[in-house]
Amino acid sequence: MRKSCRHIDLAIDIALAAGNKVYSITERNPKTGNILVYLYDPLISQVKDTIDKEYPSLRYWEWKGVPHNPAEKGYACDECKVFLIFPNAKTPRVGA
Ligand SMILES: [Zn+2]
Repeated sequence: MRKSCRHIDLAIDIALAAGNKVYSITERNPKTGNILVYLYDPLISQVKDTIDKEYPSLRYWEWKGVPHNPAEKGYACDECKVFLIFPNAKTPRVGA
């Protein structure tokens, strides 16, 4: 069952259609009100181009990261406080 907002869900669908998978979805943070949706694989340009074109209301963000803490990027729905997070490198798939 999806817990994210319908706006981010549309972006997730685009990522899933391109072969990505949802890694985890956090509970809504009681302090910040944010929900974080983590995907397995990095953001590929094909997915970014499609989301940018189809859903311009989603805010693209990028965090540069520091050594030992890799950069992440993704999209945010500021209305629903849901963040879609793509890792910098592929997440190891345990048991896959
Ligand atoms: Zn939303």
